[in-house]
Amino acid sequence: MDTANIYRLNHIRLNHIANLTDYCGRCDLCKTRTNAVPGIGNASARIMIVGEGPGESEDLQGTPFGGRSGKLLDQALAEAGLPRSEVFITNIVKCRPPGNRNPLPQEMDTCYPYLVEQIEIVRPEVIIILGKVSAEYILQRPVKITKENGFVTYAEGRSELNEQLFLTVLHPAYVLRNRTPKNTSAFFQAIQTSKDIAYGRTNDKISTKSN
Ligand code: URA
Repeated sequence: MDTANIYRLNHIRLNHIANLTDYCGRCDLCKTRTNAVPGIGNASARIMIVGEGPGESEDLQGTPFGGRSGKLLDQALAEAGLPRSEVFITNIVKCRPPGNRNPLPQEMDTCYPYLVEQIEIVRPEVIIILGKVSAEYILQRPVKITKENGFVTYAEGRSELNEQLFLTVLHPAYVLRNRTPKNTSAFFQAIQTSKDIAYGRTNDKISTKSN
């Protein structure tokens, strides 16, 4: 299959997952959501970005990272020469935890199969994991995110994610709460690192990944 057809097929498969999350009732988060937030972006993205879960504005809009954190993320992506449309952005849980609390372990477990399927469809070169909660859940180990910002790793405890490369990165909400030049530049640098990994250091021309 050629690249354009692979893209179309991926798009259809991702839409199918989005439809499933719209009607999902696997956990109690469905009772309080306005919209499910399955994820958005390039169906053959080289870079996937995974946050924790939708906040208030995401719940209202149905798209991830639509609030202040998203603005900072967009700035870092733009600085790295990555339009948002080039990456695929999603979260561990697809529905908003009430009051923006952290998702519970059983909520993450229940939603995880959607994420695995999204990863299998998009097959990104690298997945940016935003924040400690997401990183500890995916990597299944304690993560000191301020120490591991910009680190490349594998999810060794998860056979279904075998050989998938991850990059642990500060959550933009953390950077906004602790707005120091050091944190801001560490965050921007880590996003740049993801591009260097996914596209190669010298290739600054963005093109759709050929599978
Ligand atoms: N924080 C997240 O982790 N994800 C979003 O989509 C928005 C804020």
